[in-house]
Amino acid sequence: MALYKHSAYVKTSTSDEFDKVYSPGASTPHSGIYRCEGCANEIAANQGNPLPPQNHHQHTSAQGSIRWRMIVYAQ
Ligand SMILES: [Zn+2]
Repeated sequence: MALYKHSAYVKTSTSDEFDKVYSPGASTPHSGIYRCEGCANEIAANQGNPLPPQNHHQHTSAQGSIRWRMIVYAQ
């Protein structure tokens, strides 16, 4: 789970961007922290760069494929 110390630097958002899920290797739509829906692994990604590929980390069959969801939006 992503952590922070000073609440003055983060705030909640209702943006639909937090509801979208991306495939491995998809272009990163917004710079920020992304979480794998299968295993909760978190990564930082820069806008325009590809999200980590399917072989970024291993999943069990129950975890399915890697799917990335933005959890922190860097402005
Ligand atoms: Zn994963």
